[in-house]
Amino acid sequence: MQVSVDHSLAVTGTTLRAFLFADPAAHSLSPRMHNAAFGWAGIRGEYEARQVPAAGLRDAVAGLRQPGTLGANLSLPHKESALTLLDTLSDAARAIGAVNTIAHRNGRLIGDNTDAPGLMSALLDIQGGSTGVRTSDGSVVVLGAGGAARAAVYTGVVLLERDVYVVNRTHARAQELAQTWTAEDAESTVSAVTLSEVPWPEVRLVINASSAGLAAPDETPLPDFDFHQLPEEALVYDMVYKPAETRLMREARQAGLRAENGLGMLAHQARLAFEVWTGRDVPVGVFLDALAGAVS
Ligand code: NAP
Repeated sequence: MQVSVDHSLAVTGTTLRAFLFADPAAHSLSPRMHNAAFGWAGIRGEYEARQVPAAGLRDAVAGLRQPGTLGANLSLPHKESALTLLDTLSDAARAIGAVNTIAHRNGRLIGDNTDAPGLMSALLDIQGGSTGVRTSDGSVVVLGAGGAARAAVYTGVVLLERDVYVVNRTHARAQELAQTWTAEDAESTVSAVTLSEVPWPEVRLVINASSAGLAAPDETPLPDFDFHQLPEEALVYDMVYKPAETRLMREARQAGLRAENGLGMLAHQARLAFEVWTGRDVPVGVFLDALAGAVS
C-alpha cells in the first residue's frame, strides 16, 4: 500500500508537531530541514529531535497518536524495532524491513520508508532529472548489510529493476540479507558475494550503504580497490555525506568516475517524509539550503 495523505492536516490552526526519535539525536540535521519546510509551506509546525533510548521507543511511538501530531522520523537504533509497534506498514517499509517515517492518521500509525525513494530521487537528480538511471543497463553493487543497505537493495531491485550484488565486511550478514529478500520483481536477483566475485565490468552503480568513512574519514569500504575495473560511465554513490568528499569518492574520482555523496538522499528522504505528513511537496532545494553550512 501507498501512504495516503490527509491534506486537511496542513491547514489546521494549531501548531502541528513532528519528531525524530533516535539515540543519539542531538547532532541530527533533520530539525533544520523540516523546520525550514514548515516555514516555506506556511504551516505552523515544529519538528523536534528527541533522544529516545531503545527502552523508551514504545512510549514515544504511543505518544504520536495525540491530535496535532503529524508523526515522526526514526533513526538508529529504532528503524527495525518500530515495525511491530505500528498499525499498518507501507509496501516499501514491509519489503525493506525498516521504518524511517511514521505518519499519524486519526489515531492510527502508518510505518513508511522514504530512504529508498529518497535515494532514487537523488540518483535521478544526478542524471539531470532524466530516467537514465532507470533505463540504462548494468548491475548494482550495494556495500553494507544494515538498514540503509536494505533500502539500497530495494532501490536497485524494485525501483531500478536491476540485479544487485551485496558485499559486506561480515559476509554472513550479506548472505542473510540476500536470503531474506522478498523482491517484488522476480526478474531481478539479489546475491551476496565477496569483492572478488563481483562482475565489475557490468556494474553501473556502486552504492556505499555501509558506515565506513562516517566516523573515520580515512576509512573506505573498498580499500586497495582498482576503480578502473568499473566502466567509465559507472556512478559511485556514497550515502555518507560528512565529509562532503569521502575517501571512497576521492579514489573513484581519481580514476575518472563520477562520485556523489549522500546529501541528496538525505534531503529527498526528508522531502518525502514531509509530504507524507502534510501533503505538501516542498522543493528539495529548501531542504538542501537548510543543510548548507552544516556539512563540509
Ligand atoms: P547499520 O545498520 O549500523 O549498518 C552498518 C553497516 O556498515 C554494516 O553492514 C557494517 O558491516 C558496515 N560497516 C561499518 N563499519 C565498516 C567499515 N569500517 N568497513 C566496512 N563496513 C563497515 O547502519 P545503517 O543504518 O545501515 O547506515 C549505514 C550508513 O548509511 C551510515 O553511514 C548512515 O549515516 C548512512 N545513511 C545515510 C542516509 C542518507 O540519507 N544519506 C540514510 C540512511 C543511512 P558489519 O555487518 O560487518 O558490521
